[in-house]
Amino acid sequence: MKRWIAVFLAAALMLGGCAREEKAAQRTIWAMDTYMDLKIWGGDGEAAAEQIAGLLEELEDDWSATWQPSLLARLNRGELTSLPREKQAVLDRAEALSARTGGAFCPKLGAVSRAWGFYGQQYRVPAPAEVEAALAQEQWDLGAVLKGYAGDRAVEILSGLDVDRAVLNLGGNVQTFGEKPDGSPWNIAIRDPESWGTSAAVQVRGTASVVTSGSYQRCFEENGVRYHHILDPETGYPADSGLEAVTVICRDGMTADALSTALFVMGLEKAAEFWRQSDDFEAVFFLTDGRVVATEGAALYGCEFEVISR
Ligand code: ADP
Ligand code: MG
Repeated sequence: MKRWIAVFLAAALMLGGCAREEKAAQRTIWAMDTYMDLKIWGGDGEAAAEQIAGLLEELEDDWSATWQPSLLARLNRGELTSLPREKQAVLDRAEALSARTGGAFCPKLGAVSRAWGFYGQQYRVPAPAEVEAALAQEQWDLGAVLKGYAGDRAVEILSGLDVDRAVLNLGGNVQTFGEKPDGSPWNIAIRDPESWGTSAAVQVRGTASVVTSGSYQRCFEENGVRYHHILDPETGYPADSGLEAVTVICRDGMTADALSTALFVMGLEKAAEFWRQSDDFEAVFFLTDGRVVATEGAALYGCEFEVISR
């Protein structure tokens, strides 16, 4: 059975043939608990990479759920009564995305993730009463949108620095910026984790965000049962929706990230209906039975899949 997992950067499939290859500014960073790769062409790419590295640090300082001095951790401990306007705006957007998804994306599952030991990889199965109590605590956790939001903020930096184009792999969230000189689309690969080979890809044009949420990304096994980190906000247990992973393609990074998590929780049927009622994203669904289903605008290639249309 094929399992398609994790979006990663297929490299900025570069100018072919005899075209002269322009040198990119390149940087690998460890941030938000994952490796991130920045590749930036034209303009002052080095300055852009430097500023994006700074941005990632700043976002972690503000929004880490696990680093005790962070703004978010202080907010969760009741130590802050208000936030600066631009920081409050991030929480407001998260609330709006939660409302849009009927609560499937829920930025207040912090205590529940902690109860399962997903913070610090202290994995354990909590008792039902503990899960209930953790749900009621409504502790902020922006883990499902932070990398997407970082992509949006990085695009602001790139736009301000006269950069031609860029591909940022923010730990599985791929953010593209600008157009390739030959006008061809960006190819963002989807790989099969069992072989670590490239098995499928999506094509996007211009500035876009390609985000995958997968149950394999953080999980553990106890007594033969696999528990993963994407939680159903209604139960506080790992979402058991028949999906292995969901990839979302969207112009807005924070939206892409929230939706990849939300659609995973919803499961294929509800998610397809949600897509029909929206006009700002496309999605690819990787089912636990090995099937792959893509919305009609997803521009998926390289694997067998079914298409859902409006
Ligand atoms: P990843 O962080 O692996 O890229 P996601 O974007 O799907 O994957 O985010 C999952 C993280 O979001 C979890 O580790 C947890 O911190 C938090 N989370 C889990 N379930 C939900 C949910 N239903 N809504 C919002 N956040 C969630
Ligand atoms: Mg997400």
